[in-house]
Amino acid sequence: MKKTLIKNIGKIIGIVPEGKLRKEGAEMEEVETLEDAWLLIEGEKIHSFGSGEPPAGLSSGEHTVRTIDAGGGYVMPAFCDSHTHIVYAGSRYGEFRDKINGLSYEQIAERGGGILNSADLLRETPEEELFRQSLERAVEVMHKGTGALEIKSGYGLDTENELKMLRVIRRLKAALPVEIRATFLGAHAVGRAYTGRQGEYVDMVCHEMLPAVAAEGLADFVDVFCDRGFFTPEETLQILDAAQMYGLRGKIHANELAVSGGVQAGVSRNALSVDHLEQTAQAEIDALKGTETMPTMLPGASFFSRLPYGQAKNFIRSGLAVALASDYNPGSSPSGDMRFVMALGCIQMRLTPEEAFNACTLNSAYAMGISRTVGSVTAGKLANLIVTVPLPDLAFIPYSHHTPFISRVILKGDIQS
Ligand SMILES: [Zn+2]
Repeated sequence: MKKTLIKNIGKIIGIVPEGKLRKEGAEMEEVETLEDAWLLIEGEKIHSFGSGEPPAGLSSGEHTVRTIDAGGGYVMPAFCDSHTHIVYAGSRYGEFRDKINGLSYEQIAERGGGILNSADLLRETPEEELFRQSLERAVEVMHKGTGALEIKSGYGLDTENELKMLRVIRRLKAALPVEIRATFLGAHAVGRAYTGRQGEYVDMVCHEMLPAVAAEGLADFVDVFCDRGFFTPEETLQILDAAQMYGLRGKIHANELAVSGGVQAGVSRNALSVDHLEQTAQAEIDALKGTETMPTMLPGASFFSRLPYGQAKNFIRSGLAVALASDYNPGSSPSGDMRFVMALGCIQMRLTPEEAFNACTLNSAYAMGISRTVGSVTAGKLANLIVTVPLPDLAFIPYSHHTPFISRVILKGDIQS
């Protein structure tokens, strides 16, 4: 089996014991480190690591060991991004000018912006072209250090085009060493053909789209945009219950625009995550306590749309876990840079660098159901790692958030850049 030794590591950060799947409350402040270290990769996985000189005799026998000199830099887990919409056609930069000029959401939609216009463009775009555009974005975030990625459908809004999006996600899974999970988001908005008939659209999502998605095994999770002006908690429960019959757990868009009841709906069906949460009250925090649901916040969307930021600090003080993700999408967060997300977590949400680090690695992996295999430096996990240039402190990563800090990205044991 192929072996790679990383030597001359200034510090390994983000060591987590096997079986620890998320960090909650005060634990989020803990980042375990090891100085003057080496790390051995065997095949796709982290084999072992330690401090001091690497063990002798690794190169003996028939196996040669490739050596990477970290030059005193850090080794950390690759970022995990548990909420994106990177499969889309074209972009919405025109809408950017309209937003700056103060146009309303309705005016922007009339001029060709918003989810429904992304859906129109996606329908006209052949699968091959959609794959090409999406691959470009996925490769971009991979080089920025993302080693695990959740991608949603939701710009198809009819069965044929939702399937097209999910097939593109399946092709991305096969094409890249990034660990990818697919989420079916048929209930992102009501498709144009169903304007004024939201109830019928939800029935169609449950009885036509979901069986078709499940028949091809295209989704790992199901999502609903449960918010003011989109889908109600009752409709959300209807879709979650239908999805449960196909073994699909929920990851819900909730409380972005209003206190929507989406958190409670998600928790009542043991959703894996509830995401956005810009608008929450104590009732949402109470609803999440003692559950397996990961509260996930998307500061890049708050930044781009000038919305309030989620109250991550309150969640953590209440003993809850928090994950951060990019929400990479053409309308409200056209960036998948997880280092910037980490910086926004610190600057705008007042998370410590350690809390933001755990939110962007282990906890975000949990929110994709893959924290057994990625999200930390743990023997036996996938070797999805960032080797950094020499850094004075973990805080430098979010602090100097545009100074290049990556020397190498290693995914499944192979150097990507
Ligand atoms: Zn989203």
